[in-house]
Amino acid sequence: MHEMSLAEGVLQIIEDSAKEQSFSRVKTVWLEIGQLAGVEVEAMRFCFDAVVRDSIAQDAKLEIIETPGQAWCLHCAEVVHVQALFDACPKCGSYQVQVTGGNEMRVKELDVE
Ligand SMILES: [Zn+2]
Repeated sequence: MHEMSLAEGVLQIIEDSAKEQSFSRVKTVWLEIGQLAGVEVEAMRFCFDAVVRDSIAQDAKLEIIETPGQAWCLHCAEVVHVQALFDACPKCGSYQVQVTGGNEMRVKELDVE
């Protein structure tokens, strides 16, 4: 389950910004997960709960924002929505699509005190 190492990465980001901005408690974490990032939201929640135990984020609420997958279709010459990596263009069925968004995960915001 690679969500475990991703969750550890998120905690690392939280702890780094805690040092920089000197806060001691994290109330909410907004995590943006692209539809094409290959991250299972439920697994992510589970792993997050596990890794934040005994950290400054142990009571933090995890808010997950799922961002849609976007790709550029060469054939249609426009941005289309795709559900999965290597999906065909939903408009013309062409496989000449290049993913342009929704393929990453990032910490969007932290609510701290
Ligand atoms: Zn197309």
